[in-house]
Amino acid sequence: MTAVRAFAATSATDPLAPGTFQRREVGPKDVLIEIAWAGICHSDIHTVRGDWGQVQYPLTVGHEIAGIVAQVGPEVTGHKVGDRVGVGCMVDSCRECANCAAGHEQYCHNGFTDTYNGVDRDGRITQGGYSTHIVVDEHFVLRVPEAIPFEKAAPLLCAGITTYSPLRHWNAGPGKKVAVVGLGGLGHMAVKLAHALGAEVTVLSQSLRKRDDGLRLGADHYYATSDPATFTELANTFDLIVNTVSAPIDMDAYLGLLALHGTIVSVGAPPEPVPVTLFTLFENRRSFAGSKIGGIAETQEMLDFCAEHGIAPEVEVIRADQINAAWERVLASDVRYRFVIDISTLPA
Ligand SMILES: [Zn+2]
Ligand SMILES: [Zn+2]
Repeated sequence: MTAVRAFAATSATDPLAPGTFQRREVGPKDVLIEIAWAGICHSDIHTVRGDWGQVQYPLTVGHEIAGIVAQVGPEVTGHKVGDRVGVGCMVDSCRECANCAAGHEQYCHNGFTDTYNGVDRDGRITQGGYSTHIVVDEHFVLRVPEAIPFEKAAPLLCAGITTYSPLRHWNAGPGKKVAVVGLGGLGHMAVKLAHALGAEVTVLSQSLRKRDDGLRLGADHYYATSDPATFTELANTFDLIVNTVSAPIDMDAYLGLLALHGTIVSVGAPPEPVPVTLFTLFENRRSFAGSKIGGIAETQEMLDFCAEHGIAPEVEVIRADQINAAWERVLASDVRYRFVIDISTLPA
């Protein structure tokens, strides 16, 4: 066991505080990573606050991790000491079911192991990236290309892949009209990626407050959804709508914006069911879909794509002692567009 320093939650309501916990020994196929940067994802806050079920405290969250390989097990072939690497939302899966075999570990029939608040193979609760080191099976460790500024790599491991995977699956590209609902951490990556893939991109946001940002990030058009005229003007327009908003939205109204054979895919969701009128789907043979992060091979493809196209998230780097304030700002949607913690500032 190796003791690591962390910024951990001790309850659903108390501020995160410095602490330590034990990582497992580096096994034959394991990689020990010295973490440099950790992104703050809204999921971190939902998990700690108990919004998504039971939590065992103390818990260290964080599933957008970028760091340097510090040690490798004797059977590791894909990574070596000194490499720039990343870890996202998964640290293990069964590797045997049909979905794992097809490279879609995120849909493992036996359930993948979450990077934090999951149950590890030794039965212990997994602990995430707001910490100095992590030990991960090499299959779940990604290579971070040199062309990606290191502090900006971390958010790609959740926000990046979560938006890249549906864009690729539904063939966002030249000649396709793609709309992105919400311009937050996920939405701003969806805009950049869809633009780089060659699609015509429209942002659908509550107001025009972030319009200049949206256009600068690569959107061709920007509409306010608070204006009812948006829904008549854009009726039957889009091949793909990526919904990044986790608050309830009027799904029928958005479905009406889909063109022939269009799909709306949600990557964020409210806890309660969303009503859909099936007659809205009959028109234009529309599809109503969901998507969850992305597989390991696809995550590597996304990182390589970002390096090739010079794409990276817009980040605000913070110190460890700013994490609690940053969480409040995430809850208030007051971040453009992702907080990244400088792990070197964790108290000794
Ligand atoms: Zn996340
Ligand atoms: Zn599996």
